[in-house]
Amino acid sequence: MSEEKRETKNKLRPATLVTQAGRAPFDHFGFVNPPVYRGSTVLFPTVAALEGLRQPYTYGTKGTPTTRALEQGWSEIAGAADTVLTPSGLAAIGLALLTATRAGAHVLVTDSAYQPTRIFCDGLLARFGVSVEYYDPLIGGGIAAMMRPETTAVLVESPGSQSMEVQDVPAIAAAAHAHGACVIADNTWATPLLFPPHERGCDLAIEAGTKYLAGHADLLIGLVSANAKWAKRLRTTFNAFGMGSGPDDASLALRGLRTMALRLREQERAALDIAQWLEKRPEVSRVLHPALPTHPGHELWKRDFSGASGVFSVILKEASKKAVAAFVDGLELFGIGFSWGGYESLVLPFDCSSYRTATRWVAEGPALRFSIGLEDVADLKSDLAAGLARLKLS
Ligand SMILES: *Cc1c(COP(=O)(O)O)cnc(C)c1O
Repeated sequence: MSEEKRETKNKLRPATLVTQAGRAPFDHFGFVNPPVYRGSTVLFPTVAALEGLRQPYTYGTKGTPTTRALEQGWSEIAGAADTVLTPSGLAAIGLALLTATRAGAHVLVTDSAYQPTRIFCDGLLARFGVSVEYYDPLIGGGIAAMMRPETTAVLVESPGSQSMEVQDVPAIAAAAHAHGACVIADNTWATPLLFPPHERGCDLAIEAGTKYLAGHADLLIGLVSANAKWAKRLRTTFNAFGMGSGPDDASLALRGLRTMALRLREQERAALDIAQWLEKRPEVSRVLHPALPTHPGHELWKRDFSGASGVFSVILKEASKKAVAAFVDGLELFGIGFSWGGYESLVLPFDCSSYRTATRWVAEGPALRFSIGLEDVADLKSDLAAGLARLKLS
């Protein structure tokens, strides 16, 4: 692409950018999508070329034109200096944390983090001499008081997994940077389309591409993007592991990317509609959706996000386990299962009280997390209405 064309492209709006980013058809005989390059060995024409390692690709673990297309596309969308791909979102979390820690380091992690993040921190990081401390997700700039000389990283996740607390990420980032720490964001819920992580002060941003990027519940992939300050360190750590993503998975993710903005827009609309509807139901105590004015993090969300995705939580009024099972088990359009971001709506009962240590999770009734898919909202509401009737009856 010519420099001039590239400049116009950088000004594109997100919905257009996802259709353009990471593509160079005329590098591939005009075919619209980057082909799947499978390979371990990459040949060098001469010994001199081998010794210089000065060709764009040198070995399969370091990337192929297919994985690079996704990395470059994602960097454009996230406003990042570089991006690396991992075999899952969880692997991306581990890679980001290992990029920004060392033996003897102290790491601050939001109490609302995705539970496997805690397992990684409390198990593996602790075993390697990193001390991990959890903080109240609503701490904001108050995190300054928790910073120590050896604090190397602060992890944010906003909204929090399941409990949906919105964090003051710019304030946390400012405090962390004042102490020289790296700010890592798990940005899976919003994606860079709804929350530009690096613009908001994060150095490293994780995306479980398994969710909205993949969009079809048939792919595991993770991405870590970095700003200019952290790009080299991220790439070096990534290369040390040799744990990239395969070309077929990168290709599927690139396909997902082309419709991601469209799907997110529709899932935002549908989820908000259902959240508002649920909020008025007598069986529901609270709906935890940051785009609802009743949400305690609504103002921060309005300030920092350009939209909402399709995942939110609901606290029901007190109900027996049996009644909740009657509600959930009988749903015809909502799958019961982990992960989210696909075309099919999902529901998951949760109770995060056993994995909170800095704060207490108090729910007045059973809690459910919903991921709204691409079905017709009226059908989803009828399914939920019948479910709520079962809840009342049992
Ligand atoms: C699902 C999820 C991950 C992990 O993604 P996988 O690809 O399933 O490993 C990480 N962070 C958050 C917030 C998630 O919801």
